Amino acid sequence: MRFSKDYTNVRPSQLSVCPIYFRLMATSDKDLIKSLEARIAELTRSEERFRLMVNTVIDYAIFMLDAQGNVASWNEGAKRFKGYEADEIIGKHFSLFYSKEDVERKHPQFELQMALEESRYEEEGWRIRKDGTRFWASVVITRVNDSKGNLLGFSKVTRDLTEKKMNAEQLRLAYENLEKRIQLRTKDLEAALKSRDEFLSIASHELKTPLTSLKLQLQLSQKRIEKEPDSSPIKKDLARSLSVGVRQVNSLTGLVDDLLDVSRIQQGVLEFHKEEFNLTELVEEILYRFQEELKNARCVMLTKFDSEVKGKWDKSRIEQVIVNLISNAIKYAPGTEILVTTRKETSSGVVEVADQGPGIEPSKVETIFDRFTRVASTKNVGGLGLGLFITKRIVELHDGKINVETSPGQGAKFIVRLPL
Ligand code: ADP
Repeated sequence: MRFSKDYTNVRPSQLSVCPIYFRLMATSDKDLIKSLEARIAELTRSEERFRLMVNTVIDYAIFMLDAQGNVASWNEGAKRFKGYEADEIIGKHFSLFYSKEDVERKHPQFELQMALEESRYEEEGWRIRKDGTRFWASVVITRVNDSKGNLLGFSKVTRDLTEKKMNAEQLRLAYENLEKRIQLRTKDLEAALKSRDEFLSIASHELKTPLTSLKLQLQLSQKRIEKEPDSSPIKKDLARSLSVGVRQVNSLTGLVDDLLDVSRIQQGVLEFHKEEFNLTELVEEILYRFQEELKNARCVMLTKFDSEVKGKWDKSRIEQVIVNLISNAIKYAPGTEILVTTRKETSSGVVEVADQGPGIEPSKVETIFDRFTRVASTKNVGGLGLGLFITKRIVELHDGKINVETSPGQGAKFIVRLPL
């Protein structure tokens, strides 16, 4: 048998009045009537099950709105979130769930309009409970049509995400708080660093004057003792003490000079007086002065020089650079070969100082050029950790570059390139 119309979606309550039902009653096909009755019973049960399911859901507010936005059905979840009993709210407009400001800006109407046009509208926002308290809701409004596509109303599914929102809010506040604390701490640290730099600057200036006069006094005493006859019983002892004193004062002066240079660099007042000179000649002069130190450290000095590497640089500052690199090689690689090279490249004059000492771990290579930074493996050797910081600044202020090639146990090679 063929139906002229599809009745499969017809609600059970409507079936008893449909013409096909009577036509079927008139036939003697009892099996068909039985199966139709079974289907009606099944549909009724399924509708009931669905209604019960929706009604008992408590984690979601699920309800219908009619085409004007009046509440048409209500479930347990809706009652739980919003606080209204079904008989209090059914028939009332859903704008009751919105704040005064939302109602004034016609937000509920906007939501329905969007669902009408797009079939579905979704958002998160504050909603108001019956007792006036707020909750953070995730809302989905879906347009519901009849079988011909005419608007029947809207289904509305709402979830209470207040806790999630609060957690996120707490997290945001905690994060903001942390950021503020970090900012304060950074300010404190900056202030502490500034005070340290100011202190070092003042201290090094204050130390410099008495040190200079002490050195002068020692040198005068040295001259006077030289004039004493060799027969004088104290001449030898005094001369030795004075030369130890001069050496100590020299190394103290070196440290104070480094501190002074650091504060000059910090203040951007490191001065340069450029003149033309031959880098190789300067390196030779310096190495000559290092003879005794090299001998004491049992270092063998090897050299590889281009005869002429002329450029216009600040001679005493470049001298400081080379002295720093050679002193470090002697300090950190005693008893090894040190190779000093000068070379003329297309656009730069190059000085290299390579030793066979402990080398530097790759992860520490960048840090050795920072202020007061020393590598743990070489900390048993004295120093303030300023030499390479000053060296790098001097080279960079000449528009040059300093690099280091090194690996642990394989020595270190410092390469300075100065523009010609
Ligand atoms: P200082 O020698 O006073 O510590 P520097 O700024 O000259 O300061 O050097 C920084 C650090 O770099 C040193 O403490 C040392 O750990 C490392 N370093 C410098 N030169 C060498 C070298 N030739 N071999 C191994 N390590 C070195």
